[in-house]
Amino acid sequence: MTDKITVIQGDITQLQVDAIVNAANNSLLGGGGVDGAIHRAAGSQLLAECRQLRGCATGAAKITQGYNLPAKWVIHTVGPVWEGGDRGEDELLASCYRSSLTLAVQHGIKTIAFPAISTGVYRFPIDRAAQIAVREVQAFLSTNDSISQVILVCFSQSTCDRFLKALQQVGETS
Ligand code: ADP
Repeated sequence: MTDKITVIQGDITQLQVDAIVNAANNSLLGGGGVDGAIHRAAGSQLLAECRQLRGCATGAAKITQGYNLPAKWVIHTVGPVWEGGDRGEDELLASCYRSSLTLAVQHGIKTIAFPAISTGVYRFPIDRAAQIAVREVQAFLSTNDSISQVILVCFSQSTCDRFLKALQQVGETS
């Protein structure tokens, strides 16, 4: 299954995939980081559609169109803020990946790109986030073959290296 998972360094807003995932906040009304970049690239219609959604719970996901993005869809998910690890952060982050992939399948999405959810302002430790990301994506793909490609997009090369390491480790044990 790991052959369907790719780790790249880059800007998620530029990818030509069926869907990109947004690391949003509970309001779904935009923010900084990848959320701000996605809203800027998609245009103001994205914010208008997000307003209709009335927010999103942490660990859940909601879908909108992609408007001016190359991607047809945006799946908005809300990662946990890291508060030390005893507040269910691991499970909430895992849920972000599962909820997003479930929505993708429901919409016939075959190619999807994720940012490193929660690893920016929300301060989730990178190695731990990378392990959860690759484990959840790999587990999902092993029970569902409608998705053909999952790209894990890292903004910095150092994050990319850590995600690549996590992918190698999962590949060795699966
Ligand atoms: P969170 O609040 O979930 O931590 P952030 O947007 O602060 O969300 O950061 C999530 C990750 O997205 C970070 O690793 C950050 O470097 C990365 N990121 C920021 N902008 C982009 C972008 N344009 N494309 C891909 N990843 C990005």
